[in-house]
Amino acid sequence: MPGKILIVDDIPTNRIILRVRLSAAFYDVMQASSAVEALDLLERQTPDLVLLSAGLPDCDCLDLCRRIRKRTPPVGTDNGHETGAGMDRITLFPDAGLVEDTACPAVLILAPDNNAALRLAALDAGAEDVLTHPLDDVMLQARLRSLMRVGEAAQETHMRDTTSRALGFAEAQAPFPPLARICILTGESTAAQPWLAGLDRFRVGQITCHDSQGFLREMTQGAMPDLCVIVVETGNQPAAALRVVSGLRTHPETRHAAIMVLLDLPDSQLAADALDLGAGDVVCGSVSPAELSMRMDRQIRRKRMADQLRSTLRDGLRAAVTDPLTGLYNRRYALPHLARLAEHATQSGRRFAVMLADLDHFKSVNDRFGHAAGDAVLIEVAQRLRGNLRAVDMVARIGGEEFLIVLPDTDRTEARIAARRLCRIVAQDGFHLPGQDGPVGVTLSIGVAMGLAPDDCDDQPLSDRVQGLLHEADQALYQAKACGRNQVTIRKPAA
Ligand code: GH3
Ligand code: MG
Ligand code: MG
Repeated sequence: MPGKILIVDDIPTNRIILRVRLSAAFYDVMQASSAVEALDLLERQTPDLVLLSAGLPDCDCLDLCRRIRKRTPPVGTDNGHETGAGMDRITLFPDAGLVEDTACPAVLILAPDNNAALRLAALDAGAEDVLTHPLDDVMLQARLRSLMRVGEAAQETHMRDTTSRALGFAEAQAPFPPLARICILTGESTAAQPWLAGLDRFRVGQITCHDSQGFLREMTQGAMPDLCVIVVETGNQPAAALRVVSGLRTHPETRHAAIMVLLDLPDSQLAADALDLGAGDVVCGSVSPAELSMRMDRQIRRKRMADQLRSTLRDGLRAAVTDPLTGLYNRRYALPHLARLAEHATQSGRRFAVMLADLDHFKSVNDRFGHAAGDAVLIEVAQRLRGNLRAVDMVARIGGEEFLIVLPDTDRTEARIAARRLCRIVAQDGFHLPGQDGPVGVTLSIGVAMGLAPDDCDDQPLSDRVQGLLHEADQALYQAKACGRNQVTIRKPAA
């Protein structure tokens, strides 16, 4: 099923016609004949989208829209009460101070005629748009597909945000988001003028105008727009506008920008194609600056929400491979990294070294100075190790007081020198621990195994070779401990 849609309309024929059309497009359709029925249904189910008739007898459609979109009612309204003839009054806003929820269903309002005032009020109430009877099927289906995509992204954001917060790595919201960058793209520079007149009053962002053909060529890094608005004169090569939409979607600098298309005359096929190619909104005919700014603002907010999702995801991935105490990589990152390096080394013929480093008598550090002091030692050791290795070397904390270090392009002699240096930089300066007057001595033992030269690699599977290397390094470490600690042992690779 491509999605779940609720039709709210008191006229049975309207509901039937819509249901047939939507079912034919494989939507899962629910119906309600009044606001009361709709709210009851919404208590139990969450559709992706609500098609809401403007003429419900028991409630003003804008109030119901606000309720569905979880928007606070405008100041001074009678708490959303509506007195339909012979109908019960219904309370739409029982809980004060609602905030818009990104995960609530999208709303399209169906009205007998489409006037500017209703569109403005509908947008303000959180609706996506106003559609008029008789419904243009091509446009309706394209709008639905586009809104379903937006809804999926919003739900995903909502879910990830909740998970990220639970895991403690949610990004702090900027209190004042930077001014949005809006690029208006036109074929003829004069075409944008009627759209832009009066828009500056609404401070929707920093607007610049560009030639749509040259725009992508001239795009430079760092000037990524939040919103690209394509102004189309339908008489003037409308297909070129669609090429601009797909160009923006594929260009690395504009891939994540929101896209709006402004058509001077209604053209439902062109509008539907633009939506399917990735435009977030298409506006036909003349609209007021207030409406245009509201639509732009919505696209910008959606784009920023998607930006945030991506950055949270990046942070999440980073957190998943990082040891929270020391900031080093963890085992989850280190072992696949070692496997990749081993594979690469086999192909390139370069040697590499694997080290297992383990703090000596670390239990006694905890026993003598407490666990917090032990943690401080781990943090300082991690810093000393990281600070004495090359950028290409990897150091990970793979156990309590055990570190895995992988050095690409390193031969046996170089590995020995590096390992001894690491032992020295831990042992030579004592550690200053919280609550201790003098420095506390800490030492480290290291076992080293050398990555197999390609000629030595028989047909052993990669995972066996990696396990073999770790085993070799572990044996070497055991030997270093047995020989008195604070030293390095290097094993020859098993033949
Ligand atoms: P050896 O020289 O043989 O390696 O002796 P050791 O004491 O270092 O080794 P052992 O395995 O006996 O003890 C390891 C200690 O490391 C025990 C444990 O309490 C401590 N440890 C493990 N993880 C952490 C940690 O995250 N923080 C602190 N403070 N201590 C830890
Ligand atoms: Mg130890
Ligand atoms: Mg240990």
